[in-house]
Amino acid sequence: MPELCPHCKGAGIRRTARHGFAERFVYSLLGFFPWWCSKCRTRSMLRDRGSLSDRGRQRQAT
Ligand SMILES: [Zn+2]
Repeated sequence: MPELCPHCKGAGIRRTARHGFAERFVYSLLGFFPWWCSKCRTRSMLRDRGSLSDRGRQRQAT
């Protein structure tokens, strides 16, 4: 389920690793995940977890 970049509306966005205290703790608590757009090279915080953290984790039903 590819997300669309909120900046360029492109589909070249993908999950990236968390960096720094804010992303690891603050955004994590708020339910946001970092995404990177390869098209406009912009990082965005989205509420979509994506498929980066699917190692041993079960997908939660919504
Ligand atoms: Zn973009």
